[in-house]
Amino acid sequence: MVLKKILLATAQVVFLAAFVSAAEPAAAKPAINLDERRAFGYLEAICKLGRRPSESEGMTKQQDLLVEHFTRLRADVRKQEFNTAHPKTGVPVRMTNLIMSWHPQAKERVLLCCHYDTRPFPDRDQFRPKGIFLGANDGGSGVALFMEMGHSMAAIQPTFGVDMVFFDGEEFIFQRDGGKFFLGSEYFAQQYRDRPPPYRYVCGVLVDMIGDKNLAIPVEPLSLKFAPKVVRSVWDTARALGVKEFSTKSHPTDINDDHVPLNEIAKIPTADLIDFDYPHWHTTKDTPQQCSGASLVKVSRVLLTWLQQVPEDVGR
Ligand SMILES: [Zn+2]
Repeated sequence: MVLKKILLATAQVVFLAAFVSAAEPAAAKPAINLDERRAFGYLEAICKLGRRPSESEGMTKQQDLLVEHFTRLRADVRKQEFNTAHPKTGVPVRMTNLIMSWHPQAKERVLLCCHYDTRPFPDRDQFRPKGIFLGANDGGSGVALFMEMGHSMAAIQPTFGVDMVFFDGEEFIFQRDGGKFFLGSEYFAQQYRDRPPPYRYVCGVLVDMIGDKNLAIPVEPLSLKFAPKVVRSVWDTARALGVKEFSTKSHPTDINDDHVPLNEIAKIPTADLIDFDYPHWHTTKDTPQQCSGASLVKVSRVLLTWLQQVPEDVGR
């Protein structure tokens, strides 16, 4: 009798649910909310701050802008700070990684990351190697991408918790060749290894130079070596969405980037999405005009979709 009553109640609920879902779709809010003009507007706003090397005035303004943006979108905002010696003068330089967390209670997390400092000088510029380097694609594009993705993060249902991390000091470099790269990601990886947090990163995706208006993202060989399941699942998602900018070709050489310390020190399997075929790299011509909102939205759509279907065994 009791059982029957429960069955009856269940049947009613099922009926109601069917009714509601039939009436609902027109009013349902799409979880993924992307806008090419808004995304490009973020890139322009970041570049309007001027050059943004570590500890510069532009970098401080950028930090304020990001803290404000992500707080408004209800992310959990943290700063990870440390000092490093200036490579030319030896004086201490304050470095700041910014961490924006979504679903902060989740103990298993995906790391999305980019660098947000810009190279101090456009030293590959033929005419103005000491000119102003805006770094729209190299430094700005990852930031604009995450700002745009932020509008969808509270609404989607990711498989794992998500942290967006902005690394400082990716290229605090004052010479044409050599120098110490990846200061922020290396510190982040060492801290994760030496003072393990109460959560675990199952995997990571780094983005770098993904705003090019002629976008083509080949498979980066080190990513395939360190994080094959991450690469495969991201590229499968892109193929299913018809985003052809994710090329199945491999980049001809390994690319040393912030994902290396994450893989080698923190042991977080991390793939790098990078379009290194960019003629304006490290020149004064790396400006918003060379980038597009369409490219930012394509990569955003792939990552937002992927976050909702990350394979359980992605890191194994
Ligand atoms: Zn660079």
